[in-house]
Amino acid sequence: MNRRPLELLAGAIVCSLPALLTGWGFSPHRHIHAKAWTQLPRDLQEAWGGDPTVLVRHATSADARKHTDTLEPSRHYLDLDDVLDVWTEPSSSAELVGVSWQDYRTMVTSVDSTLDPRRFGVLPWQLHWTYRKLVALMAATDSTPVALDDVLRTAADLGHYLADAHVPLHTTGNYNGQRTNQTGIHALWETHNVEHLMASHTCDLSEALPDYDPLWTPWDILRTSHRDVAHVLAAEAEWRQLTQAHGWALRRRGRTLSMLPSPEALHCWDSLTGHRTWPRFCETSHIVASAWVSAWHDAGTPTLDHSRPALREPGMLYLFKTWLHERFHAHPPVGPLSRRIPRRLESRRPKRTHPTWTSRGTFHVARQPLEVAHARRRGHLGQPVARRASPRRPSHHGHVRPRAAEGLVAGLLA
Ligand SMILES: [Zn+2]
Repeated sequence: MNRRPLELLAGAIVCSLPALLTGWGFSPHRHIHAKAWTQLPRDLQEAWGGDPTVLVRHATSADARKHTDTLEPSRHYLDLDDVLDVWTEPSSSAELVGVSWQDYRTMVTSVDSTLDPRRFGVLPWQLHWTYRKLVALMAATDSTPVALDDVLRTAADLGHYLADAHVPLHTTGNYNGQRTNQTGIHALWETHNVEHLMASHTCDLSEALPDYDPLWTPWDILRTSHRDVAHVLAAEAEWRQLTQAHGWALRRRGRTLSMLPSPEALHCWDSLTGHRTWPRFCETSHIVASAWVSAWHDAGTPTLDHSRPALREPGMLYLFKTWLHERFHAHPPVGPLSRRIPRRLESRRPKRTHPTWTSRGTFHVARQPLEVAHARRRGHLGQPVARRASPRRPSHHGHVRPRAAEGLVAGLLA
């Protein structure tokens, strides 16, 4: 059989994938939110109006905004390897854990004042900012009544960013295998395989606890994801060898026929990656639920359904308010954008003019960059944050029937 046309078609599709990179894919993101909803305590479900439709519908809104907001793309990843490559002294990502955005920004500009601090991504800080925004929205006062639609959209964004943090390829500059001739690996990991698994797998879900720490949990997730990067890349190289001849097939995806990895090839891929994707997927939905519950507790467990606005806020107004909040409240402007920096990989590395980096401990700041230490002495920076011991420990940990969750997901996506 002449495989040439099929190979060319597969190659064309693979080459077009980088433009479609979304993080877990459209359908998996929605499934994660729907499963997270089923793990919420009933009180919170009722406080949020008893209807997960908005949460599920907006599960991918953050990806959609990449086309209209130049700040949006960097909110979905943190290239830990590139960060460590720029600053050679921290020997592992552990030394970055908990660093504040202000300190990180100072470190970046101390290496190269023209380097955009958002260049390697802002995901851990974005998770913190979005969490704070969600708490603030729910803790509205009499003078600023709660807009439930805002709350649900922000919760959907928080869930989206959290889901992205669980994907190994969202923690590396080699996010689509473009540096190792493995283009297409991103969609293989987070979309094709997950969609294949969703057809036959369920999650063992349990009621979420308010045990999400908005400062430390994002770093824990990112570091766990990053530890899998080398394994995933090695698995893809082996998978490519094994499935070279028969790995792709025409399959229906939605309303279209696409050239996708065959079910047999995906089974092989899942095996080579140690069957770790599905547990990660289920864990993601649970942590999204935990984050929502924790934010609700931090806001004082308000009942929001009575505050539902009569008219839904237009989408453009919501985007404008989000932009205002993130520009002037969540974090201050960070200076010039990365337009001046070419997007090619090699040019990502700044020139090192002098050795300014010193390592920063996770819980104790043993040695700090001089600029940070000086700024802190002058009172321009806050004190180093310490891991908080969460006082929230609910008394029970109920079980959610997996099939109930699957039914809800199917109904919402129908
Ligand atoms: Zn994303």
